[in-house]
Amino acid sequence: TETKTYHSLRPRAPLPPATAPLSLTHYVFSLLHRTTAASSAHPALIDATTRHRISAAELESYTKNLASSLHEKFKFSKGDTAFILSSNSVHIPVLYLSLFSLGVIASPSNPSNSNTEISRQIQLCRPAIAFATSETAHKVPSNSLLHGMVLLDSSEFNSMISQEGEFPRVEVLQSDTAAILCSSGTTGRVKGVVLTHRNIISGFAAAYALRRARASPAVALCTVPYFHTYGFIYSVRAVALGGVVISMERFDLRLMMRAIEEYRVTHVALAPPVIVSMLNNSGVMEGYDLSSLEVVISGGSQLPVAVAERLKREFPKLELTQAYGLTETSGGVSRTLGSEECQVLGSTGRLDPNCEAKVVDPETGIALPPSKQGELWVRGPFIMKGYVDDEEATSASVDSEGWFRTGDLCYFDNQGLLFVVDRIKDLIKYKGYQVAPAELEDVLQSHPDIAEAAVVPSPDEEAGEIPMALVVRRSGSNIAESEIKDFVAKQVAPYKRIRRISFINEIPKNATGKVMRRELRRLAFSGVASK
Ligand code: AMP
Repeated sequence: TETKTYHSLRPRAPLPPATAPLSLTHYVFSLLHRTTAASSAHPALIDATTRHRISAAELESYTKNLASSLHEKFKFSKGDTAFILSSNSVHIPVLYLSLFSLGVIASPSNPSNSNTEISRQIQLCRPAIAFATSETAHKVPSNSLLHGMVLLDSSEFNSMISQEGEFPRVEVLQSDTAAILCSSGTTGRVKGVVLTHRNIISGFAAAYALRRARASPAVALCTVPYFHTYGFIYSVRAVALGGVVISMERFDLRLMMRAIEEYRVTHVALAPPVIVSMLNNSGVMEGYDLSSLEVVISGGSQLPVAVAERLKREFPKLELTQAYGLTETSGGVSRTLGSEECQVLGSTGRLDPNCEAKVVDPETGIALPPSKQGELWVRGPFIMKGYVDDEEATSASVDSEGWFRTGDLCYFDNQGLLFVVDRIKDLIKYKGYQVAPAELEDVLQSHPDIAEAAVVPSPDEEAGEIPMALVVRRSGSNIAESEIKDFVAKQVAPYKRIRRISFINEIPKNATGKVMRRELRRLAFSGVASK
């Protein structure tokens, strides 16, 4: 059979020569210097709550100062890791860029994670130092850290970013690791996704090639967290392209409206649940001047067509950009661009520059032609190096030819537009956050009254999906739903809580004892499981 490979229909994005030493930071500033923003007092970062501003010129000097102070103080070795636990702030992009310039790996985590979840990430990335805030510091097990902890809201940090310095001379290769982000991939528990400088540089090069000429800089409100790929990439990339990024410490609809009005925001980067909440609370938006808004970017999880239609109806002048990507692909794979593509509501657009794809029949392994559904495989310079210390999971997800299996059920139409239909991997997306069923199953199975349990996604209007448990009680046990929910809630971050439970008699398994997840999802979906 003939192999069907889809190539990007976008202009090619030229990449720096692969073997040239180059840190992501130096690449970012080389992009920024090509824009008019670079040396001006034009703001690069604004905090929506405190109204604190950092200009493009300050961004560069703060990055240099911090890099230089950190280098002097801690004498990092290249490849050391920094664990970061903080909500969004203007200091996070500065911190990321300083670390990248030193060849120090950034590994940010969700501040709402439980101690167990944080320990897991620390075990994976083995940090030499941690950056936290006075609010999150108590969650960091600092005794294991060679260089201890730095608080981002301390006078120590302030003096580090203001004390004049230059980039220390550290040779960073593009093949060096820039970040370790967390993802459970297609199956199992949380893993550390190793992204190199090259991986992220290639994504930025793609965005640079796709940028549109503007009379004034794009002003982007980034409501998505900077510890997740979406915000991690978006916050630094938007600045690199000469835009202004407005940070919000935590999402708040009213603050978002105020910021849009006050800073004449042109772009908002949202996860689909925020769009739903916006539409359901349109009363909150009344009275605000939102006329500056041009583009709503939706990504991180599926945007239901009905929600997209509502958004179009209520904001007919807005362009809705859908972006699709994964942590393992450094955030990018495809996006809609321009009014024509943005009209095709169910689509996540055309492949980004330098991206190839195949749609593979999960049963036969055959690559399929347009309009046929199968698992999406992608290839390109942005595909992760692998999962940290997990050869097995890495080779199961990236094959010897460099094809990465997304675990998403997709198809292309005849115009090269990608449609994400369903997820075939074991992953739940609660408000865009990853929840790994295997992790919750481990917790459930540790309960003495539970014989067996499986966790599946259950559709939910507000959150997209919620974790639902199918539980087989031990004989004689009469444990109640609420007891199980509380038991789990005590051990996991709030977004991972079990929010729905069904008791069943047995977990369906195939002949080899493998849990039949599709069957479980069907049971959960149809409500047949309840009794
Ligand atoms: P993460 O690594 O947390 O970004 O999760 C990546 C997964 O989120 C993908 O494999 C998809 O299942 C889902 N996803 C991300 N963006 C979209 C999108 N625009 N439409 C549908 N699913 C998406």
